[in-house]
Amino acid sequence: MSYLSRSFIFSILVLLIASCASTKTVNSLQQSKDDGKIQVAILQMNDVYEISGVDGGKVGGLARVAHFYKELKQKYPQSMMVLAGDFLNPSLIGTMRYEGDRIRGRQMVEVLNSINLDVVAFGNHEFDVPEVDLQKRINESNFDWLATNLAQICGNKEYPFYKEFEGKKHFLPESKVYKFTDSDGTTLNLGMFSATINSNPVDYVHYLNPDSCASVEIMELKPQSDVLIGLTHLTITEDLDLAKKHPEVALIMGGHEHDHNYQKVGKTIVAKADANAKSVYVHILSFDHSNKTTTLESDLVYMDEKIGLDVEATKVIQKWNSILDSEIKKVFPEPYEIVFHAAQALDGKEITTRHKPSNMGILFAQSVKNASKNNAQIGLINSGSIRIDDELQGDILALDIFRALPFGGAIYDVKMKGSLLLGIMRYSEKSKGLGAYLQYTGLEKKEDNWMIDGQPIDPEKHYMIAMTDFLLRGLDIPFLNEQNEGILAIYKPNAEDVADNRLDVRRAIIEYLKTL
Ligand SMILES: [Zn+2]
Repeated sequence: MSYLSRSFIFSILVLLIASCASTKTVNSLQQSKDDGKIQVAILQMNDVYEISGVDGGKVGGLARVAHFYKELKQKYPQSMMVLAGDFLNPSLIGTMRYEGDRIRGRQMVEVLNSINLDVVAFGNHEFDVPEVDLQKRINESNFDWLATNLAQICGNKEYPFYKEFEGKKHFLPESKVYKFTDSDGTTLNLGMFSATINSNPVDYVHYLNPDSCASVEIMELKPQSDVLIGLTHLTITEDLDLAKKHPEVALIMGGHEHDHNYQKVGKTIVAKADANAKSVYVHILSFDHSNKTTTLESDLVYMDEKIGLDVEATKVIQKWNSILDSEIKKVFPEPYEIVFHAAQALDGKEITTRHKPSNMGILFAQSVKNASKNNAQIGLINSGSIRIDDELQGDILALDIFRALPFGGAIYDVKMKGSLLLGIMRYSEKSKGLGAYLQYTGLEKKEDNWMIDGQPIDPEKHYMIAMTDFLLRGLDIPFLNEQNEGILAIYKPNAEDVADNRLDVRRAIIEYLKTL
């Protein structure tokens, strides 16, 4: 196939799994035509937030994945498609309304159903969605969810997560054995477990220890499985530790980091593809019953313009994109206009934006400052408003700015005392890891001092700050509200003045980017 862009081939030595030969396997080995060998192809995605392609539509997108998977299935009739967590949130479409409710991942589940995904692991972002909406998404899905180390908290009790259908609650499995049979009757029992990180924990979920829960499931799966694999959403360090502790596991398909990664720990392979299906991993797993040997060949395949688009998936994606377009056009008439070319990737990953100044955050803060009508010296934006959790590179569409900042909001000029400004910046520093951490421009931190134009901020002096209206609501920084005595004046845009870009921060950013 022409898709092969990077290839890693590793032969795994004999994986002896105690008492793994099921009765079914023994029977099939007795049939003369059964050669005892079977191949299964596994397509792995992770961290997919967008149903459409990214980078101006040139890479990723689930219509490409669907097309590619259909071709793969022709070559490997025994195949499955898996997603290693993070898919219900964040996305711009998810913030919009459809049929009276916020969409919140419904678009993703509908597309994943249409492309015949088999199984997902929970990622931390699945729990960004309110509990009631997550339950709807689970119920709507026609794929499996593995919940190895997760429980749902209900009052002072906790229960397994469940899928409700035909009027009944069906608990989600902690692990599952997938059974394959090839044309000559060889079978494969593929035991799969999961593990989910407790990043950005929410109060309706009890995150049990991922390592010990996975270990329990591995013990349970062993007697019923020919091959053991994991579908996880952990840090790479945690995945590698899991691999080290469990050499009997052939493959751990992980996510969370957004960048492809492929490592071998002893005989165990740990693989992660790029976020948003920019790439997928294809693992060809071969098992030989005669000597219990597992062999894995893994290819990282880029979902670029060389890959066709599946017609059926495209129809479902277009339905959701038309909802998206009509909502965006209320704010910006040309969502697909290229507004900027980012030669260097703009980093909007939460791991960056919530911990330190990022080039995307600084650019947004500069846009906020640039939109000021009162010569603001400083531009501020809370990192929590940046929801893309990804990079933007190459041609940036107006739409991408909406993806980065789905909630918008107005820009205010706020005249305040230096003492309040210092308090705000100190609070931001203490909020590392949280949405209250600020991205800024016009300020500089030198050792412990905050400086403007080379001078330390004077607590008694007055400064003009451009910021989003959200910040002034006190939701992120409690004392930053309109009643604070350190605020001398607030200049708001006039809602009637439709030409004023301060009415929507995304418009202000788009117009600023166009001038660069
Ligand atoms: Zn994650």
